[in-house]
Amino acid sequence: MSCPQCGREVPGDARFCPYCGYRLSAPSECMPLEGIEELESLVSTLKERYLPKEWKCVVDKKKKRLCFRLTFKTLLMLGLISRVSRPVATSMLITALEQALRHAEEDIGVRFVLDKAYSFLGHPTLYYRVFTRG
Ligand SMILES: [Zn+2]
Repeated sequence: MSCPQCGREVPGDARFCPYCGYRLSAPSECMPLEGIEELESLVSTLKERYLPKEWKCVVDKKKKRLCFRLTFKTLLMLGLISRVSRPVATSMLITALEQALRHAEEDIGVRFVLDKAYSFLGHPTLYYRVFTRG
């Protein structure tokens, strides 16, 4: 798999990226937060206080994780800038999302662990599992 932060290949069982230190999996003392109502309530808190306006977030009820996608308006905005600067803008948006999630972690006492990230036509989708601190 590749590190969501720096993009380099890392071993599948790595807990931290050996290149940039990005946390790839939850510490063992953390408990997964998988109740749909709890996740929905967390999404509301994120939207109210943390989530950058360029992002939308929904609960993936089947897999009990949070799904982040860029808003339609943001996708339109990205479509207007040059093809060269688009990946740079996208990675800045992802960094802003990551920073917001780290900020929320500090305040709320949860951890967001990236479960899956993919890009379709340059549009990123990121899935996070949520853990509570034990
Ligand atoms: Zn990395």
